[in-house]
Amino acid sequence: MTSALVWFRRDLRAHDHAALYSALRDHQRVWCAFVFDSDILAPLLQKGLRDDRRLAFIHASLVQLDEVLRSRGGGLRVRHGRAVEEIPRLAAELGVDAVYANRDYEPAARDRDAEVASRLMAAGCGFVDCKDQVIFDRDEVLTQAGRPFSVFTPYRNAWLKKLDATALAPHPLEPHLARLASTPAGGMPTLAELGFTAADPAALPLSPGVDGAQRRLRDFVARIDDYAATRDYPALNGTSLLSVHLRFGTLSVRQLAAYAWGRATHMNSAGARVWLNELIWREFYQMILWHRPQVVERCFKPECEHIVWDDAPQLFAAWCAGSTGYPLVDAAMRQLNSSGTMHNRLRMVTASFLSKDLGIDWRRGEACFAERLLDYDLASNNGGWQWAASTGCDAQPWFRIFNPVTQSEKFDPKGDFIRRYVPELAAVPNRFIHAPWRMDAAQQAACGVVIGRDYPAPVVDHAVARERTLARFKRIAPILAAD
Ligand SMILES: Cc1cc2nc3c(=O)[nH]c(=O)nc-3n(C[C@H](O)[C@H](O)[C@H](O)COP(=O)(O)OP(=O)(O)OC[C@H]3O[C@@H](n4cnc5c(N)ncnc54)[C@H](O)[C@@H]3O)c2cc1C
Repeated sequence: MTSALVWFRRDLRAHDHAALYSALRDHQRVWCAFVFDSDILAPLLQKGLRDDRRLAFIHASLVQLDEVLRSRGGGLRVRHGRAVEEIPRLAAELGVDAVYANRDYEPAARDRDAEVASRLMAAGCGFVDCKDQVIFDRDEVLTQAGRPFSVFTPYRNAWLKKLDATALAPHPLEPHLARLASTPAGGMPTLAELGFTAADPAALPLSPGVDGAQRRLRDFVARIDDYAATRDYPALNGTSLLSVHLRFGTLSVRQLAAYAWGRATHMNSAGARVWLNELIWREFYQMILWHRPQVVERCFKPECEHIVWDDAPQLFAAWCAGSTGYPLVDAAMRQLNSSGTMHNRLRMVTASFLSKDLGIDWRRGEACFAERLLDYDLASNNGGWQWAASTGCDAQPWFRIFNPVTQSEKFDPKGDFIRRYVPELAAVPNRFIHAPWRMDAAQQAACGVVIGRDYPAPVVDHAVARERTLARFKRIAPILAAD
């Protein structure tokens, strides 16, 4: 009789789970484990970040996962310590033949897994990593010349060409669940025991766990056909809000892609087609990160390392706090600060504003988002930031610079989203809501807001900032043009 340990990480569900499926198929006894990794948590505590929504989301999702596994005769063994030590130790204690985990594409996770694999191997135990969080990974989608893509559209076309029922097939756990090994209850540390602030899962902006994911999915499938028309308007409930569930694996990407593909193909749904496209963007950035891990530190386009960014601590602080004087930018940053969420259109607008209006290095904005986003995902965040700053693969051309006022007029025409997060502008008439500094003193008095006192004056003049950015990029244009 052989046995295995399944190590859960960003895949917190007990259905359609590649590593769990493979372990149950190949072994007669299977244990399940999760490690609160002190290599990840200790730096947060050192920075004083005790109130972390993501950890609260993970914790609540783990409680649900443990309940589900327990109802099938298993349960979760939870450890707190360095994963590189805890997993080999647990594998030795249980005497398993192999550890199974779903593959992670982030450089630090790859290093961690390589270390765990080599420690296990030294002890005579195997390490099996499975593809789970994407439909296609590593070298599965390459150019005809056998190289990784760096432009999205041909990548998407090749991805779609490869897509078939096999790639989308779920991993059925049911037949083998009796192989789950029982685990003593009560091993889950509280957030307080981990050193973090206790949080009420009901207070999270998005409900955690598989239950939360399924509720959110049901809500979205009822409006997926409208996605193409509504997805760009932050005041509307137009997008799926499933990114956090994809991040922590509380739902299966195969389930989502299969649904979108079926609806696009059989019902000719434009919304489903566009939404599937977004799932492919996610995989595109995961693929980039796998093949070019250097993007974590550096611009995808090496020439862009010659850009001279501004060191502007006060402007950066104003951007972080949502007090730039540009209402849509400020509303977006305040939404991020208060809830950990931000609409895709607004991520583009705020990222463009930081890098192209304030002239600040995209890496500083990326780090700010990384700290605050509930759905923070290294590949997508890095890809999104480098896209907006024009330093990335298939990025926004450097001479295309979002105008924060026209973006606001176009995507929040009546200022509904702005008024939700910038209450001091609530009474400003629609025609001034996107640029309130254009009101004269009498108009400001009439709506009860004095610009510069109740709400900031713009920290930069967009027209001037635009020229500075064009000049900044023109300095490196000769090398960029060769790109
Ligand atoms: C500067 C910037 C930073 C970003 N940081 C992150 C991040 O840390 N984590 C993250 O998941 N997404 C990130 N994105 C991508 C995108 O903004 C979010 O995925 C999206 O807003 C999540 O909302 P949703 O689930 O309602 O998306 P939907 O519109 O419903 O899209 C469905 C899914 O497709 C994926 N997706 C959608 N748009 C993109 C995109 N542009 N790039 C990659 N995947 C996409 C997400 O997994 C999303 O859940 C970033 C984009 C930008 C411009």
